[in-house]
Amino acid sequence: MPEVKLEGVTKRYGKVTAVDHLDLLVRNGEILTLLGPSGCGKTTTLRCIAGFVVPEEGRIFLGEEEITTLSPEKRGIGFVFQSYALWPHMTVFQNLAFGLQLRRVPKEEIRKRVQEVLSLVRLSGMEDRNVRQLSGGQQQRVALARALVLHPRVLLLDEPLSNLDAKLREEMRFEIRELQRQLETTAIYVTHDQAEALVLSDRIAVLNEGRLVQLGVPEEIYQRPANRFVAGFIGISSFVEAGVIAVSPGGVILRTDDGLQLHALCTKNLAIGQRVTVAIRPEHIDVIEGGPTDSVNAFEVEVVRAAYLGDSIDCRFRVGKWELRTQLPPRRLPTRGEKFWIHIPPEKIILILE
Ligand code: ATP
Repeated sequence: MPEVKLEGVTKRYGKVTAVDHLDLLVRNGEILTLLGPSGCGKTTTLRCIAGFVVPEEGRIFLGEEEITTLSPEKRGIGFVFQSYALWPHMTVFQNLAFGLQLRRVPKEEIRKRVQEVLSLVRLSGMEDRNVRQLSGGQQQRVALARALVLHPRVLLLDEPLSNLDAKLREEMRFEIRELQRQLETTAIYVTHDQAEALVLSDRIAVLNEGRLVQLGVPEEIYQRPANRFVAGFIGISSFVEAGVIAVSPGGVILRTDDGLQLHALCTKNLAIGQRVTVAIRPEHIDVIEGGPTDSVNAFEVEVVRAAYLGDSIDCRFRVGKWELRTQLPPRRLPTRGEKFWIHIPPEKIILILE
């Protein structure tokens, strides 16, 4: 399967720059997710690759071949739409066979390919059903099968799970991931759902306002966000501004604006006086049973709000002006104003230098 390369791709709609000089390399056989908030240019990027939209600037390659202005049907790209876009008056078989008939594939071959792909998406035996008689999840599988039956060189998926309920969505994430691994198809997946992106992707490209803000494997994006936007968009973070007051090999001491001292590991060269943004993930806050401690990064905090979520308690603490969001085990619901001692391990502190 070929790689997909975008070089300086730019698409404008009037005054809106939907995609802004985007450079991206999707590797052969990987599933890469375009992730970002609504309006950041994910769908437009996908449509440029599919050929439904031609960019004003930049070039797009499929392997060695430049496809920037090539018509969509000549690209050999499969597209799965958010709305499924199945033909409602046709059966499952007819939906899948249609594209093959247009390509004049012999009847027997069509039958064989449809059977194969239906078995892949676990819909064997459903050939004669009208697609309107299928559940949302089954329709989504037919849409996926319809793209796969054409043996696409690249598979593009535009928020394919957004019409499904939460439970089915979660199951389908794993299914799509497995299927893509099995077929080793180069795939580009669009979503604004960060959990979906973390589960599904070999790599994630985070977009904001048409630009690429970070590209990396899921762990990298989550644990080492490039800037405040990524830290805030992926996962939950509590932010505080601080200045560097001491540096040592491999570490720094920071002071927040209201005087809290934080020790953090840091391999970058920071200067005393430099301003940084500190981000803390909820799971990196430890509640210390048994009260005060004099270890570094231990603070007495006050409960601002707590909500029972079933498997955990979403709790917001305040220390000085800093509000810290964490998850506690689902035992007793803390009351507003209740005091706790917490500890934040220095190696868990995320430093954002912008
Ligand atoms: P969403 O998650 O809401 O689908 P997205 O990240 O896919 O958003 P795009 O649909 O690519 O974003 O849109 C990027 C920007 O381009 C938005 O500001 C949008 O309003 C604008 N845009 C997209 N398509 C058109 C169009 N056909 N005409 C005018 N503006 C458009």
